[in-house]
Amino acid sequence: MQVIKNIKFHSVALFLFWVLLIGLLVPITVGMIITLDLERTKLKNELSVFHHETLKTLVESTEDAMLSFSPDGVSNTVRFLLRDERIVSIEVFSDIFDLYLMKVSKEIPEHEIDSSTLRQIVSKDRENLGFVQITVDNGWIVPKLKQEHNIIIILFAAMFFCALLLVIPSIHFKILRPLQRLKKQAEVLSSGDLSIVCEWQGRDELTILGQTLEAMRSKLNENFNAMKEMAVTDDLTGLPNRREFYTELKILLNLSSRYNHQLSIAIFDIDYFKNVNDTYGHGIGDEVLKELSQLVAHKARKTDLLARIGGEEFAIVLPETSVSVAGRLLNELRTVVSGWSFPHGEKLTVSIGVTGYSGVESIEQLMETADKALYEAKEQGRDRVVIH
Ligand code: GH3
Ligand code: MG
Ligand code: MG
Repeated sequence: MQVIKNIKFHSVALFLFWVLLIGLLVPITVGMIITLDLERTKLKNELSVFHHETLKTLVESTEDAMLSFSPDGVSNTVRFLLRDERIVSIEVFSDIFDLYLMKVSKEIPEHEIDSSTLRQIVSKDRENLGFVQITVDNGWIVPKLKQEHNIIIILFAAMFFCALLLVIPSIHFKILRPLQRLKKQAEVLSSGDLSIVCEWQGRDELTILGQTLEAMRSKLNENFNAMKEMAVTDDLTGLPNRREFYTELKILLNLSSRYNHQLSIAIFDIDYFKNVNDTYGHGIGDEVLKELSQLVAHKARKTDLLARIGGEEFAIVLPETSVSVAGRLLNELRTVVSGWSFPHGEKLTVSIGVTGYSGVESIEQLMETADKALYEAKEQGRDRVVIH
């Protein structure tokens, strides 16, 4: 069994180019051939009509000349007829005298002539007077046909290019460009960059496909941002979580060491928080944690970084702040907390450990120092700030 293999085009543009070329060239060529053939038939008919009519004219003007055998009687007509380029030769023969009254032909080599001859008997009162014969040059239609041929070719070529001028921009703007844009859009999506917006205007299929892709990107971006937010936020308090704290702290430390700016870090922990849970329940404990977070966030400066890094343990980074200023600010904070009435109706205190960044310590070293300071604050009786 014969299998017809599919021709594989590597781009839609190439495929459309071939479709366009074949789709335009085939009908235009067929149209051209048919038009030329019709033109040839028309010219042949024209020549044939001319041939018959000329013969008829000649017959009518030779009757009397044949009867009286006067070549002068037909010579004017023959001379006049011979002026026409289509006529090659004319013969007028008299049966009565068995002689040619006229036999003229143009000087054209016989072999070059594709001619056709028509002969007609001339009679009067049923008596044969003789015959007339006219030969016409069939080659006459060749230059005429050539001229028509050129006009038709120019006409069809103009049609072809006009069609191309109309079709190519339509294909380019309605198919190839949107396809190219869709390809780019899909590439950006597959690269994982969900932030690049691709707008589409219109109602055709490719536009709808582009709009669908854009809607998909927007939804994915929304979900991705929500997930990213969830991954860096503490559920209960809404503060940055431990992971986010370390990410942000790294950036702040880099900035601080690069520009030789001061920076302080504090860790604070609620004193005897276990008692709150044990006495009022875990739910109230959660409410207390939330309220404390809001209170501290409200007191902290906009540029400070506050995060929940453990159960009832928080960290606060104070950029552009010396450790002594940080100690004073955190002491104020401690006072605010200790004077605050929490949801369970009782007072709470916090212990705070503070340290300053000198531009060389690692995150781990800094956190460890702050933690040690916090531990000391606990050791020294809680509700206090210890600076290391
Ligand atoms: P200290 O002054 O030594 O810090 O005493 P403490 O009781 O605060 O410390 P401890 O480490 O003994 O207890 C901490 C408690 O915090 C235990 C735990 O149940 C509670 N806790 C941790 N995370 C949460 C939370 O998300 N919600 C609630 N309600 N409690 C929490
Ligand atoms: Mg505690
Ligand atoms: Mg603790």
